[in-house]
Amino acid sequence: MTPHTPSNDPSTLDPRKVLVVFSGGQDSTACLAWALSRYAQVETVGFDYGQRHRVELDCRAPVRAEIAKAFPHWGARLGEDHLLDLSLLGQISDTALTESRAIEMLANGLPNTFVPGRNLLFLNFAAALAYRRGASVLIGGMCETDYSGYPDCRDNTLKALQVAISLGLDSPMTIETPLMWLTKAQTWAMTDQLGGQALNDLIIEHTHTCYLGDRQQRHAWGYGCGQCPACVLRKDGYLSYYL
Ligand code: ZN
Repeated sequence: MTPHTPSNDPSTLDPRKVLVVFSGGQDSTACLAWALSRYAQVETVGFDYGQRHRVELDCRAPVRAEIAKAFPHWGARLGEDHLLDLSLLGQISDTALTESRAIEMLANGLPNTFVPGRNLLFLNFAAALAYRRGASVLIGGMCETDYSGYPDCRDNTLKALQVAISLGLDSPMTIETPLMWLTKAQTWAMTDQLGGQALNDLIIEHTHTCYLGDRQQRHAWGYGCGQCPACVLRKDGYLSYYL
């Protein structure tokens, strides 16, 4: 695929300030690159909720730094990072993401990594922060084509939330979800188009996806156990795009 150099001309950028929900994983890094290629002012927010793959949070700062270094015109637009403590989520959920339990599929078709309404909570906190920061666009990596079918990641859920948040703040708050209809292979293609192989190499080396927090085993598609549902998704998407 031909590397694409995004425009350096600030006049072609959307002037609105945006807040990217940024976990340090592949999807939110793709969203961050997408935002930096379109918007003049980009900030990031992450959530610490006692997730068992906390190593993902440790990837946030290096990913931001590597992007700013490899793409200086993006680095110039990359503003503050915010980390919100949502440890209360651990008190109201009983799932494989926050406790030492095996990840398995439940009878309702959802994996037991599901924290009920997690993305609704995240986006409401992000919206409150965005409002305070003067941002009017939230960007998240929610995706309907994801295997897990989390109901709070669905397009209609997020459109309803956009309306509720905008009414509740009495100020427009757009929720952008650039990955909503993409397969995992198409996410690799999107980042290839945005930043070429340099961006995909950065994603492979510095982002984290594995639910088990494995940073020891290195594969062509990045670090991870290679077995958990998150690793399998990332691996299959990579193989489907590159092979
Ligand atoms: Zn894994």
